[in-house]
Amino acid sequence: MIIGACGQLGSELTTALGEKFGADQILATDLRHPDTEWDGIQFEILNALDRKGMEASIRTFKPTQIYLLAAMLSAKGEENPQLAWQLNMESLLHVLELAVEYKIPKVYWPSSIAAFGPCTPKIDTAQDTIMDPGTIYGISKLAGERWCAYYFNRYGLDVRSLRYPGLISHRTLPGGGTTDYAVDIFYKALESKRFISFLDKDTRLPMMYMDDAVRATIELMDAPSDHITVRSSYNLSGIDFTPEELANQIQKHIPDFEISYKPDFRQKIADSWPAKIKDTPAREDWGWKPNYSLEKMVTEMLSQLSLKLGISV
Ligand code: NAD
Repeated sequence: MIIGACGQLGSELTTALGEKFGADQILATDLRHPDTEWDGIQFEILNALDRKGMEASIRTFKPTQIYLLAAMLSAKGEENPQLAWQLNMESLLHVLELAVEYKIPKVYWPSSIAAFGPCTPKIDTAQDTIMDPGTIYGISKLAGERWCAYYFNRYGLDVRSLRYPGLISHRTLPGGGTTDYAVDIFYKALESKRFISFLDKDTRLPMMYMDDAVRATIELMDAPSDHITVRSSYNLSGIDFTPEELANQIQKHIPDFEISYKPDFRQKIADSWPAKIKDTPAREDWGWKPNYSLEKMVTEMLSQLSLKLGISV
């Protein structure tokens, strides 16, 4: 059962889970209808804040795994902090409580690099380090991590989590995060060959291509329970780059592509996050290894988006 299935991550994770378990074994839910049809996957409208509705779906569908993906992300959360806190926290507490009550074998809930803050070491950020998030999104992720660890320790709930970096994908647009520029840049490079970045040229952030993020999620959920030593949320590393480095890489495919920089409020958020994550426990506990380099990700994004938009590179 996937809650918040129609977003940037859910639209692809739902497909992958359908391929793994069989489409008829999946219930996808969201506040809104999906943009693309999932073949054979059941879909229901469900508000993650509606505990009764969530309970009714759990009683009917009897899920063996719940993936809670509904959330308000970093940039959008700053526009409405109270609502971001309410959505990100209450939905998690509903899922944790119901998972214990209905003995759901496994729960997945994503955290984020936003759980780190300005006092966190920026380079090779360790699993256990200073965490002082400054955005309401980051505060909700750090609190959520502690709730997950609490439910594991107190009730034995098998809840698992990853601290995703910025996710880059071509199927569904991102939902209002600080790393969204790294998706938008590909659309603009193809459509107008010009892009204005809302982050400055040397702002290095951890990122990951969606295929790696989906595979990491499935590998984590497949790992034997006694291999999971981190019950808050695992650091997860893919690639890291600056807007300038990303633009340089795109220019290898589109030589007349031009980038300019006009930092806005998201610059301050990005400046408070790590630049490069160290994910030793994920590698040691369940064998995590990313597949996508910057070069491979750029080539894949341009070829997929040029097909989608009907523009040749
Ligand atoms: P998104 O904004 O693209 O999608 C969120 C989905 O939740 C949307 O389809 C939305 O309709 C749905 N939703 C919103 N409110 C809801 C509600 N009340 N009830 C039910 N559904 C509701 O987000 P995403 O990028 O797919 O993120 C998924 C998860 O991964 C989130 O927890 C997010 O914090 C985490 N994450 C994402 C990134 C990233 O770069 N995309 C990075 C780190 C962590």
